[in-house]
Amino acid sequence: MADIHANLEAFTAVLGDIERQGGFDELLCLGDIVGYGPDPHACLELLRRQKCLCVAGNHDWAAISKLDTSEFNPDAAAAARWTANQLTAEDRQYLESLPLVAEKGEFTLVHGSPREPIREYVQSPDIACDNLAFLKTPYCLVGHTHAPLIFTDEGGSCTVRGFTPETKLPLGKKRLIINCGGVGQPRDGDSRASYGIYDSQGKSVRLYRVAYDIAATQAKMLREGLPISLATRLSYGV
Ligand code: ZN
Repeated sequence: MADIHANLEAFTAVLGDIERQGGFDELLCLGDIVGYGPDPHACLELLRRQKCLCVAGNHDWAAISKLDTSEFNPDAAAAARWTANQLTAEDRQYLESLPLVAEKGEFTLVHGSPREPIREYVQSPDIACDNLAFLKTPYCLVGHTHAPLIFTDEGGSCTVRGFTPETKLPLGKKRLIINCGGVGQPRDGDSRASYGIYDSQGKSVRLYRVAYDIAATQAKMLREGLPISLATRLSYGV
C-alpha cells in the first residue's frame, strides 16, 4: 500500500477488500500515510494496529517539519500545516521513527525511489534504469506518483507498462520496480483506491481496485477547511 494520505474511507475499504481476498501476513506501507486528507490521526492509529513494515514519505516528513513545505504547491503546503496540528505526540513519534528504505525478503521498499527515497518520482523507464544500481534486491516497491506501473529491467534498458487488476505479474529473473498505485488519492484517472497483494507461494503480485465513499471523505475535507481542489480531484482520480 502506498499513499494512504489520511483518507480513512479509502484505507478502511482497502483493508476490507484484503480480508475478502483472504487477508495478509504483513502490510507493507510505502509512505505518505498523511497529507491531503482529513483523517491523519485515525489513519495512523489504524495503521499502527496492523502488522506493518512502513517507510516514510515526503508528506510524512512535512507533517513533522522534517521537510520544508516550500517545496510543496500552495494547496499541499496548506494541507501539511493543517495536518501538523492534528497529530498527537504518539503520531509524531511514529512518523519520526519511519526509515527511508526497508528491505523485506526480495523486496526493497521506498516511497519515491531507491536513489532519492523522499523526492524522486519513478515515472519513466530512464529514471527506473538509473535507480537499479541502488537496489540490493531483485524487486522494488515504490509509491509517490500514485500511478500503478511496472518497470522491467531488460538489461541495459527498462520498459514500462501499466498495472491493472487484469495484469499477471509473476516474479521471475528480471528485476522489477513495481508501483501498486495510491490508496487515498489515485492519480491514474481511476478514482478507486489502488493496492497490491504479493502471493509469496505463487511468487506473483496482483493489483486490486476498490470503490470507497469518496463523498464522505470530501465532506470531511470541506468541513475542516482543506483546499477544495484537493477534495475535487478525488472524484476524478487525478
Ligand atoms: Zn503521495
